[in-house]
Amino acid sequence: MLFPKGSRANTHACEAKGCMWATEPRLPMCANHWLRVPSRIQADVWNAYRAMPQRTPTRDELMSDLGYVSAVADAIEHLAAADGRDPSNRYRLAADQIAEARAGELVVA
Ligand SMILES: [Zn+2]
Repeated sequence: MLFPKGSRANTHACEAKGCMWATEPRLPMCANHWLRVPSRIQADVWNAYRAMPQRTPTRDELMSDLGYVSAVADAIEHLAAADGRDPSNRYRLAADQIAEARAGELVVA
């Protein structure tokens, strides 16, 4: 079913560029897009998801996990390149911010 972004608490819009399909929380993308992601990147996303300490992590918890956001960013960028779309995405921004924060912690420690 197609919903505007954020209209349903238990779904989110597919993260592929330009796609608005309502997607269940444990998946980053609708089935159509997810099936176009290379299996290596799919495995990275799933492994990061399963490594989360929470059994069913919220979107906020997922967005603060470097492994997860990096893997989803790879998936979004793969599809954007295949479709000739702008590859910029909030997952890559989040990954960069988490990595920067960690680098800062290492300097302080
Ligand atoms: Zn989609």
